[in-house]
Amino acid sequence: MGFLSSRLSGTSGRKPSATEGPVANAGIALDDPGQPLRLIRSFEAQGSGWFWETDRAGKLIYLSGKVAGQLADAGEQVAGRALTELFEMSGASENGERTLNFHLHARASFEDYEVRLASGSSDRCWSISGRPWFDEIGQFRGFVGSGCDLTDKRRSEAEIARLAMFDSLTGLANRARMHLSLTQALGRANAGTYRPTALLLLDLDRFKAVNDTLGHQTGDALLQQVAQRLTRAVGDSALVGRLGGDEFKVILPGESNREKLDEVAQAIITALSHPYSISGARVSIGCSIGIALAPEHGDDPETLVRNADLALYSAKADGRGVHRFYREEMLVQAQTRKVLEDDLRYALTLNQFHLVYQPLVSTSEGKIVGYEALLRWNHPTRGKISPVEFIPVAEESGLIEQIGEWVLRTACATAASLPVSVRMAVNVSPIQFAKPSLPTVVTRALAESGLEAQRLELEITESVFLDGSAATEHMFRALKGIGVRLSLDDFGTGYSSLGYLRSAPFDKIKIDQSFVRGAKIEGSRNAAIIKAIVTLADTLGLETTAEGVEAQDEIELIRALGCSHVQGFVYGEPRLADALAADLESQGAMPQLVGVKVTRSPRVTMLRSAAVSVGSRKGTARIRNISTDGAMVDCHTGIEFRVGGEILIEVFGEARGATVQWVTEGRAGLRFAQKIELKQ
Ligand code: C2E
Ligand code: MG
Ligand code: MG
Repeated sequence: MGFLSSRLSGTSGRKPSATEGPVANAGIALDDPGQPLRLIRSFEAQGSGWFWETDRAGKLIYLSGKVAGQLADAGEQVAGRALTELFEMSGASENGERTLNFHLHARASFEDYEVRLASGSSDRCWSISGRPWFDEIGQFRGFVGSGCDLTDKRRSEAEIARLAMFDSLTGLANRARMHLSLTQALGRANAGTYRPTALLLLDLDRFKAVNDTLGHQTGDALLQQVAQRLTRAVGDSALVGRLGGDEFKVILPGESNREKLDEVAQAIITALSHPYSISGARVSIGCSIGIALAPEHGDDPETLVRNADLALYSAKADGRGVHRFYREEMLVQAQTRKVLEDDLRYALTLNQFHLVYQPLVSTSEGKIVGYEALLRWNHPTRGKISPVEFIPVAEESGLIEQIGEWVLRTACATAASLPVSVRMAVNVSPIQFAKPSLPTVVTRALAESGLEAQRLELEITESVFLDGSAATEHMFRALKGIGVRLSLDDFGTGYSSLGYLRSAPFDKIKIDQSFVRGAKIEGSRNAAIIKAIVTLADTLGLETTAEGVEAQDEIELIRALGCSHVQGFVYGEPRLADALAADLESQGAMPQLVGVKVTRSPRVTMLRSAAVSVGSRKGTARIRNISTDGAMVDCHTGIEFRVGGEILIEVFGEARGATVQWVTEGRAGLRFAQKIELKQ
């Protein structure tokens, strides 16, 4: 009979000596010999603790009923089995079983060893401790020990570890896990035992609108479907993760072939752009992708992620729904942008801004009926910087709010000094439009200047509808409530959804200059588009302004097509505030025509080789014909010409920036960023 077994089976009334074993050392009431046993039984019955005992040969002669039951459930017979037959070490210790055996053979105590069933028939695990016990004459009699169940603790630890590594919504790897995977992939790449790695950063287009309009539950369901489609699109060799929000990351270990990556990116964009069906609603989103390759674009995770991010930024700037590879210029641009942002922060306080005013002329009478205020920045070292360059920076940095307020106040003050028949148009950025404070800012500018609300016209672009939220509608109502006019700027360049025209309370549509330019040229469809826009506007009771009219013959066309207003360099450069009053007084507010008479500069045929470069790639192209505005080139150069892409082309010994307008059958049409002089 063993130490524990005899006591627990009640066959021995012997009082344990202080040296005998772990149980004997417990604090016990000496006047009640039955008490320790009661305590042990109650301990065994509750909680997760249990006891065991072996004989001299290591065979179990006692095991608490609870564990014996669990072993029986797992199909294990306890009777006559050795402790080491039933249990083996689990966890970190590789040679665990030997260690347990070792202790038993060496008759040495051990503590808190993590064990599991040697047969693997259950996933339970326990912690056990044991010590040898010796009888009165010092003879080794076996081991006595205790144990406790670790299963729940280990399960919750595993769950915590899983949560720490996986995104609970989509089941994809999370940011931490992806970072680890990227570090590992790059580590192997650097060790020379692994092929290069491609990193793709994805951002969903229009996801915010879905979340805002259809609710977070729909947004969550959408993200789950995106995760599934994305995983399917990239295949098994890729690692896919969600970084949070609508940002996803894909790691392609061993991939560096750009054509293959083009295909992968395109497959992702196509897969994610198909409509989704979520609890009966049809939802459409898009996706932009930035790609960086290791080791070409960086060999540590931080650089690679930053560069993929810059490429993603560029993909979004290029109209979204596209993918871009990282290029060095992107980093340079980002740095330039940062400098610009820092300078912009002080431009207002340092009085570096001023406004110029471009006349809005009625087509019927040819009279100035208003002005559009245009912001100008005179940079102390860089000189004049175009709003096309700095407004987006101001928007991203949040500075547009302050700057926009200054523009509103200044333009209103100028308008208040002009005859009451003259209106003032002010551009309002979508960022300003999204701020609930805009109506207050407008009201304040009107009150301070004393300008009547109906003389102020706010120009808004289609992008304010991107959000499609109730807040947009609310803002329209608030502004109309003040009494200001609203015009839709750059119409036709945005998101080509006409739905909003039904409900948004516009007074005017401004037809973008890209439709006006070249409308006179034979074969151009622009005139037909302008006509269609005018018809639409007439039906809705809206005025129309043709923007960017440069040539005098275009005015005739615009009038014939029925536009109510004209605006453009045909009336000269925009004017400074102090010139306006005089302009309005002279010749009955009829502006002078200074633009060229005929629309287009003639083309010159030439066959000449020219160096071209797209990003860091260089080649040559053959110029077929050229005008002051652009050129047609043969593009069998090994350089990829993409519509909308920017290239540098050497003309008359100077590198000129140009945008690719069209590409067909090995030829491309280029439009120069700045008119060039033809000297042949
Ligand atoms: P926009 O509101 O469409 O303004 C018209 C732009 O076209 C102005 O460029 C104007 O100078 C230019 N333009 C006018 N007539 C002609 C023409 O005949 N030919 C050509 N080639 N261009 C013409 P600008 O001043 O460089 O402004 C560009 C854009 O910057 C504006 O486009 C507007 O979106 C933004 N912007 C300008 N001022 C402000 C402002 O105060 N606040 C905000 N948020 N945006 C502004
Ligand atoms: Mg405008
Ligand atoms: Mg415009």
